[in-house]
This record gives sequence, C-alpha cells and structure tokens, in this order.
Amino acid sequence: MKSPDIVIVGGGVAGSAAAITLAQAGRSVVLIEKESRPQHKVCGEFLSREALVYLRSLGFEVSAFGALPISAVRLAGRLGVSEAPLPFTAMSLTRRRLDEELLQFAETSGVTVLRGRRVLSLDRDNAGWRVLLDDETTLAAEAAFLATGKHDLRERPRPAGKQGDLIAFKMYWRLAPAQAALLEGHVELNLYRSGYAGLQPVEEGAANLCCLIRREEYLRIGARWEKLLIAMQEDCPHLRQRLQGAEPLLAKPVAVAAIPYGFVREHSDGVWALGDQAAVIPSFTGDGMSIALHSGQLAAAMYLRGETAESFQPRLQGELSRQVSLATALSQAMVSQRRRMLVEAAVRLWPGVLRQVAVRTRIRPGVMLNCS
Ligand SMILES: Cc1cc2nc3c(=O)[nH]c(=O)nc-3n(C[C@H](O)[C@H](O)[C@H](O)COP(=O)(O)OP(=O)(O)OC[C@H]3O[C@@H](n4cnc5c(N)ncnc54)[C@H](O)[C@@H]3O)c2cc1C
Repeated sequence: MKSPDIVIVGGGVAGSAAAITLAQAGRSVVLIEKESRPQHKVCGEFLSREALVYLRSLGFEVSAFGALPISAVRLAGRLGVSEAPLPFTAMSLTRRRLDEELLQFAETSGVTVLRGRRVLSLDRDNAGWRVLLDDETTLAAEAAFLATGKHDLRERPRPAGKQGDLIAFKMYWRLAPAQAALLEGHVELNLYRSGYAGLQPVEEGAANLCCLIRREEYLRIGARWEKLLIAMQEDCPHLRQRLQGAEPLLAKPVAVAAIPYGFVREHSDGVWALGDQAAVIPSFTGDGMSIALHSGQLAAAMYLRGETAESFQPRLQGELSRQVSLATALSQAMVSQRRRMLVEAAVRLWPGVLRQVAVRTRIRPGVMLNCS
C-alpha cells in the first residue's frame, strides 16, 4: 500500500470524525479499526447538542438512522424523582449503529478503512510514523492520530485519572409498555449505593441501561451482574419500577473497568491523541462523544493548517480541563454514601441545578469550532 499522509488508529467517533474531515480536505487517510464487525460499546448513547452540531458539520444526520429525541432529564434516588428540561434537544442512537454508519461514511468520503486489524505500536522515525499491525505488517505515514478510546496501546498507557475505581455495564431492555411510555423523551439518572445508572430510550423500542459502580462495592455485593441488578433496584425504587416486567435484550451485559475518569492529556510526543485518549469525562454528563468529535475535528483542522500535535494537545487540555474537573467532582459526590444525599437534596430544592449541571459540563460555546 502507498504510504498515506495520515494514519488513524481506532474507528470510534473520534477517529472517524478526524478521518472524514481530513479526507474531505483531500488528504490521503488510512483508518485502522480492530473490530471487523459492528460491536456493542459500553455507552449511555446520549448525543448532546454539541455532538449533533459536529456530526451535522460532517454531513452526517443521525435522525436518518432512527435516532430518538431526548428533551428532559430526571434524577431519581432515595428522596424521590426530580425533573428538568434539558437546555437543548439531545438524541439517542446505539453505538453499534452510529459507529458503523460513521465508518461507512468515512469510506464514501475517501478514507481507506482497514477492518479487523489491530495496531500494536506507533513509532517515530526520520520519515514520519511507523505503525505495526498484529499481522506483523507495517505502515508508514507522515502523521499519526491515536483514537483507540478505552483501549491503550501497550507502550502508551494513560494514567489512572482522578476517579479510576468504577466498573461500567450496559444492557438493553424491552420495557413494559407503560414504563416505556413514561421514559419517552427522557434521560433518567438513577442514584444508588456507590454508583449511578443512566436509562434512556434508543431505536427499535429498546431502552439502554448504562450503570456504574465502585469496584469495592461490586465485590462486596458478590461481583455478579444479577446481584448488581438487585442491589440497584433495592436502593432506587424508581429504577425498580422502570424495570418491572422488562425483558433483557442481550444474553449478558457489555462491561468495562478501570476507566480513567478525570484524565486530560497535557502533552504530545508528536502523536495527535483524540477522544478518550485525550480526555475522559464522567459518563453522567453524556458529553464523551462531543469531546471525541470536537477533538477529532480540531486536530484535523490544526493539521490542515500546518500546526503540530505538540501545540494541539495543550490547547485541547486548556479547552476541556474545567468541564472535566467539575464533572469528576460531581461524579465523586454521586458515588459517595454521604455526599450523594447532599446532591439529591440540592436537586430537590432547586431542580434548576440539573439544567445548570448540563450547561456547565458541556464543551463551552466559545471553544466550539465554527461548524457551518
Ligand atoms: C459507562 C459509560 C457511559 C457513557 N455514556 C456516554 C453518553 O451517554 N454520551 C456520550 O457522549 N458519551 C458517553 N460515554 C463516553 C463515550 O463512550 C466515549 O467518550 C467515546 O466513545 C470516545 O470515543 P473514541 O472514539 O475516543 O473511542 P471509542 O468509541 O472507544 O472508539 C475507539 C475505537 O478504537 C478501536 N481500537 C482500540 N484499540 C485499537 C487498536 N489497537 N487497533 C485498532 N483499533 C483499535 C476500538 O475497537 C474502537 O472502535 C460513556 C462512557 C462510558 C464508559
């Protein structure tokens, strides 16, 4: 294969966004994705306004794939349920569908997509970057973008982050019709001992339950999904009501551990780190995909202007660190036995707090790229 200008490792939202932007500008791009087929990913699948703006700017409209609108948020816990309108209309779409459609869109935009190939390492030499693949072939490119999401390359581990002790699970459910009707148009955040779970409708009449729990609590309750389901519902009556009569749609949940929440990369050794490889915001914000899309499109724009990864990484860090720090502090409070009640009480007294949190944990308007 002729050496491309850019090689992108990882075909999630960040890698695809960067690849599409670069290819649309006429650059030769190879994107390498280790999975050969669509996969379920652990994700709440909430697409914020910023994510939708960035996707549209690529020419990608999620409603064409069955995405559903989400316009209000509910917080449920020991003290009951509070509700507030979101400061924007969000959408929900399964990652299995979104990521696959984005990869296909990348191909039609001119990106060479290599599926089912895992990158083992990225090394710099005089000519640029050398990428080693799991079939022991190598690929050379002028620039390397790292978009492997939750998975680190062996010689490029990320530090643990500020809240690295959570385990996450995702399960789809067919809710009882009355419960599905009550959930329509809403994202619900359910608080329980040492964790929280997002519940929202997704396409084809399913609901996505994406839950987090502190590792020590998961071990204490017996380290089994069935036990976690019982513990969550015992502690959060609202979630119990929602799941009454619900049918699980996967044989077992998809899971991920040791997520480095609160991590924001400060420097670069020449590689453009995107998405979760650049910053990991706690899940309850539903902003990880916006960050992934923002970082992918910002990196592509800076590369096209002749700027370097060494200037990109600190700029991105400056743009994101405030929202990631606030979200991490709130996430730590929600999984703390003592502070979780304070969070609940504050939201019950001032339901507008939910809206404020949604505003302050998003990419700031002044930082958004000018997407027309
Ligand atoms: C519990 C939980 C809930 C969340 N909920 C939401 C939400 O509701 N809304 C939201 O916006 N964000 C949410 N997020 C965050 C969001 O999922 C991530 O921020 C986002 O997926 C990051 O995108 P990415 O492209 O960086 O990585 P990914 O989407 O993880 O993509 C990385 C890709 O790289 C591939 N890859 C990995 N290693 C290699 C390799 N060595 N070689 C080749 N390919 C490789 C993977 O197969 C994958 O396709 C949530 C995260 C968690 C953990």
